[in-house]
Amino acid sequence: MSDKKIALVTGANKGIGFEIARQLAKQGNTVLLGARNEKKGEAATEKLRAENLDVRFLKLDVSNPETHESTRKYIEENFGKLDILVNNAGVSLDNQVPASQGTLEQWRGTFETNVFGTIALTQKLLPLIKKSEAGRIVNLSSILGSLKWSSDPASNIGTFAFCGTAYNASKAALNMFTVHLANELKDSPIKVNCCHPGWVKTDMGGENAPLTLEEGARTPVLLATLPEEGFTGRYVYLDEELPW
Ligand code: NAP
Repeated sequence: MSDKKIALVTGANKGIGFEIARQLAKQGNTVLLGARNEKKGEAATEKLRAENLDVRFLKLDVSNPETHESTRKYIEENFGKLDILVNNAGVSLDNQVPASQGTLEQWRGTFETNVFGTIALTQKLLPLIKKSEAGRIVNLSSILGSLKWSSDPASNIGTFAFCGTAYNASKAALNMFTVHLANELKDSPIKVNCCHPGWVKTDMGGENAPLTLEEGARTPVLLATLPEEGFTGRYVYLDEELPW
């Protein structure tokens, strides 16, 4: 049997997700490149296929449950299992908005993708991940989701200087989902972890970010390819454990 794995990366038409897709495909895996915009998703897929990588486009809008079902169906019919799910898609809608001023529209929009859509997609695909011999679920969180650091007066991440309350809260919620799912699945081969990718130069991270896409994809790819004896239920950046 081939040890080629089937991996799905959400929000992979650009940024960190695109690079995660590239790195996983470079390791010899079949990568399903999820994107909500067909044109952008197909263009990104073509780019990776031109590098001789086994990458296939899947139209997937994390906040649209209909595309969750079409994704599940495609994977079921073509592969019968899913080995790696990287929940990378994310939005930041309340950049530098103080907690007293964030609108419910910003909160709902942020949670719709970063939390509700991500949870619903994961639940939908879980039966297929359970069919894998070594399922891996990776959630792209952020250090901005750390309650410990947010409440530390010596840290500036608890202010609106970086992103906003809705974004940070969405990552804290995603962290809680990660821990609970990991605990629930602890007696199975599935490992569920979340990570901070670092501050990465992307449309979201901005021009001043110090890390390249290659560097930003490193932690999620490590978690996606953890060996059997690897950990589950952790919040990490490279080999550093982060405070919840
Ligand atoms: P990015 O460049 O803004 O890319 C975000 C990706 O998510 C895009 O492909 C976007 O698609 C997609 N997306 C957004 N909403 C979606 C939805 N409903 N369905 C499907 N795809 C959707 O951001 P990034 O910097 O690469 O961030 C990737 C992940 O890392 C995010 O979860 C982010 O919160 C996290 N993160 C980033 C940093 C950083 O410094 N960059 C730091 C910490 C954590 P469109 O092109 O269609 O908009």
